[in-house]
Amino acid sequence: MRILITGGAGFIGSHLCERLLCEGHDVICLDNLFTGSKDNIIHLMDNHRFELIRHDIIEPILLEVDQIYNMACPASPVHYQYNPVKTTKTSVMGTINMLGLAKRVKARILQASTSEVYGDPEIHPQTESYWGNVNPIGIRSCYDEGKRVAETLMMDYHRQNGVDIRIARIFNTYGPRMAEHDGRVVSNFTVQALKGEDITVYGDGSQTRSFCFVSDLVEGLIRLMNTDDFTGPVNLGNPVETSILEFARRIIDLTGSSSQIIFNPLPADDPRQRQPDISLAGERLGWEPKVDLGSGLIRTIDYFREHLSGKSC
Ligand code: NAD
Ligand code: UDP
Repeated sequence: MRILITGGAGFIGSHLCERLLCEGHDVICLDNLFTGSKDNIIHLMDNHRFELIRHDIIEPILLEVDQIYNMACPASPVHYQYNPVKTTKTSVMGTINMLGLAKRVKARILQASTSEVYGDPEIHPQTESYWGNVNPIGIRSCYDEGKRVAETLMMDYHRQNGVDIRIARIFNTYGPRMAEHDGRVVSNFTVQALKGEDITVYGDGSQTRSFCFVSDLVEGLIRLMNTDDFTGPVNLGNPVETSILEFARRIIDLTGSSSQIIFNPLPADDPRQRQPDISLAGERLGWEPKVDLGSGLIRTIDYFREHLSGKSC
């Protein structure tokens, strides 16, 4: 198949490009290189089945493809809050453009949605039937509400125009090729520990997250895309939950760092808890994560160690 991956030069997108090329597909990576980088896909550039198009999805584009993974959107709070209006435009106008393309060429389209559609959840763990608790006017809203509208657009193009859609609600994902300075907890703590700098826990560190290794997530996305008669939304994440303070201690142990933990103010609207209920993914996709947090973190730490020493991975 010929497969379009928007945001293909980003962290998750680059792993998806790699995996789909390995499966023998033609891959078009479309990216404006805002948070993504050519470094993430440089190793794919010589492959004649791979193509990079520098393009912003808020502008329409004409392509002939069989499947579309719409991954384009800055994902870390620091990046999506840098230009919040642009973040909303990417999720709204960008998704409309990709849905228009899917409709025209009759391609199946998968939307990268997020656990952020649940906001600061009042039910735990989060199931797909939960409608969420999202602040519509806060500093995370450009991302959360943008993704909620993207889901709405997907469902309406499906109901109104028969577009073949898939919606994945992705929970915190980590692994090699996360951007060093993107401000997310895994990259921040790992880089701080490797440099011997203070580990910056926001708040008292009692808030929780559940971290999924990128290869598991990519497997889930591909299964969802290729399962018939199931639009989702479906949660994709690792249900093993950890507090952020525990996570900081784990990174210190695994890196053997002498870094100290310090406590900084908690950003506004930071969700208190987050854990996916993945029963639906198990039932419909036969999917569950395979990589435990310890092994995934060792691979991520190795990547950052090499990256920081100036070698490319
Ligand atoms: P990332 O920032 O590494 O990748 C996003 C990519 O999209 C980058 O390459 C960026 O340059 C590109 N991009 C951004 N705006 C664009 C635009 N207007 N036009 C074209 N390209 C654009 O983030 P990621 O972690 O790889 O996330 C990928 C997708 O998965 C995002 O849609 C994100 O919302 C979703 N997601 C990620 C996580 C996670 O934990 N990583 C969790 C939930 C959802
Ligand atoms: N966090 C932290 N220190 C950091 C970066 C993040 O304590 O240096 C916290 C953040 O406040 C949040 C959690 O870690 O509670 C996960 O943050 P991240 O930005 O990775 O993802 P999200 O909040 O979008 O789940």
